[in-house]
Amino acid sequence: MSNVKTEFVYSKKLTIKKEYDVIVCGGGLAGVAAAVTSAKNGHSTLLLEKSNILGGLGTLGLINLFVPMCNGRGKQIIFGLAEKWLRLSAKQGFDTIPPEWKDGEPKTYTEKRYIQRFSPSIFAYQLTEEVTRAGVDLLFDCIACDPVMNGKVCRGVITESKGGTEFYGCKTLIDTTGDCDVIRRGGVPYVSGENFFSFYNKMITLDSCKEAVEKQNVRFACVGMAGGTINLFGDNQPQDIPKWSGLSAEDVSDYIIRNHLLVLERLKKTERTSRDIVATPGMPQFRTTAHLKADYSLKISDAYRHFDDSICAINDFEHRDHLFEVPLRCLVRSDYPNIITAGRSADGTGYGWDLIRVIPPAILTGQAAGEVASLSIKTNCAVSKVDISTLQRNLENENVMIHFPDEYVPEDKTVIIHGKNAAEIDGGHF
Ligand SMILES: Cc1cc2nc3c(=O)[nH]c(=O)nc-3n(C[C@H](O)[C@H](O)[C@H](O)COP(=O)(O)OP(=O)(O)OC[C@H]3O[C@@H](n4cnc5c(N)ncnc54)[C@H](O)[C@@H]3O)c2cc1C
Repeated sequence: MSNVKTEFVYSKKLTIKKEYDVIVCGGGLAGVAAAVTSAKNGHSTLLLEKSNILGGLGTLGLINLFVPMCNGRGKQIIFGLAEKWLRLSAKQGFDTIPPEWKDGEPKTYTEKRYIQRFSPSIFAYQLTEEVTRAGVDLLFDCIACDPVMNGKVCRGVITESKGGTEFYGCKTLIDTTGDCDVIRRGGVPYVSGENFFSFYNKMITLDSCKEAVEKQNVRFACVGMAGGTINLFGDNQPQDIPKWSGLSAEDVSDYIIRNHLLVLERLKKTERTSRDIVATPGMPQFRTTAHLKADYSLKISDAYRHFDDSICAINDFEHRDHLFEVPLRCLVRSDYPNIITAGRSADGTGYGWDLIRVIPPAILTGQAAGEVASLSIKTNCAVSKVDISTLQRNLENENVMIHFPDEYVPEDKTVIIHGKNAAEIDGGHF
C-alpha cells in the first residue's frame, strides 16, 4: 500500500501588498476597457495580465479583426470605446476600413459593413499607451489566482508572479480573464462551453512578400496559416477530435499539441525557404470557455428588444439587420455585490454568447463594467443596484448607443441564424 496522501492542506501567510478601489483581472480588450474607464473616473485601479501584452485574443491570440459594427444597411450601431479603438488601431498600423466608412457613417445607403483588420502587435502597444496614460497600475506576467471571499463579498485577489504569491485588496473586482478564472475559484456560479478545432497562425511566403512590395502595403505580407479550421458554428468538426472545455491544463495542452503537430505536418510538404510562420497564437483560440451565470442571459429571441437596463446596443456580425441590447444583468449577479464580468464571460446563450463576446461588444461591456464599478463605489451600493439612468447617461456621454433606434428595425423581424430560428438556437450552443 502506498503511503502517499491523496489530499493535503497547504497554507501560507500573506501580507497585503496594496489596496485598490478596482482590480481588473485579465488585460484582454474587455479588461483594458474596464480598467481605463475605472481609472478615468478617478479610482485607483490595478490591471493584472498573465501574458506580456494587452489585448488578449485580439492581439496575443491573433484574432485581429473588429467584426462589423453596423446593421449592414449603412447605419452604425456600435460606438463608444469600440469606435475609438477601431480608429486608434488604424492610426499606426495598416487598416482595412472600407472606403464607404473611412470618414464615419456613410451619407448614402450601403450594404458594405464597417470592419477593420489591424496589426496585432502595434495595437497592443497602443493599448499599453492607453492604460498607462489613464493612470492604471499595470502588472504584466502576473496571474490572478484565487479571490479572497468573505461570504459573497470579494476582498481582493491572490496573485502569482516573479514576486511570489501576493495579495491585493479591492472594493470591486472585475473578472475579464475570458474564462471566469477568478470568479470560478471564488465559487461564483458559471456556465461552461465547448470549443471547436480552430487554430490560425500568421505566415509569410515569397509570394505574399512580393505582393506586399508590389502593392506597397505590408498588410499583404502576412497570410493565414491554419491548423484546425472549424468556424464558430462548429461546421465539419471532425468526429475523432474532441471539443475542448478549455478549463484544465490537460485539455488546453491537448488542443495546442494537436494543432502544432498538424501545422508542422503541413509545413513539411512545402519548401522550407519559401515560407515562415511569423506569429503563432500566444493563447488558445477558444471562443466559449466559461461565462458567468448572471442575472440574465442574452438570447436570440431578444432580437429587437429594448431593455430598461441596457448598457449598449449591438448588432449581429454575421447577419444584416439583427439588433440587440445588452442588459446590465448579463454582467452581474444580485447575490454578489462587488463582482462584475465583461467580454467573453458575459452571459449569453447559444449564438447570444457569440454576439456578446466578439471584439466590439467585448470592449463595450468592458467599458460598462468600468462605469458600473465606479458608480457602485461612489454611491456605496451593490453593482447590480447602481442607478441605471446615471449609468446610461455616463455611457452616453462617452458616445455609447444605449438603445437602437426603432426606425432601424425591419418589418420582417424573423431571425434566422445559420439556418436555424430562435426557438431552435436558444436551447444551447450550436
Ligand atoms: C478562433 C476565433 C476567431 C474569432 N474571430 C473573431 C473576429 O474575427 N472578430 C471579432 O471581433 N472577434 C472574434 N473572436 C472573438 C474575440 O476575439 C474574443 O471574444 C474577444 O477578443 C474577447 O475579449 P476578452 O477581453 O473578453 O477576452 P480575452 O481576449 O480572452 O482576454 C482575456 C485576457 O485575460 C488574460 N488572463 C486570462 N486568465 C488570467 C489570469 N488568471 N490572470 C491574469 N490574466 C489572465 C489573458 O491573457 C487575456 O489577455 C474570435 C475568437 C476566436 C477564438
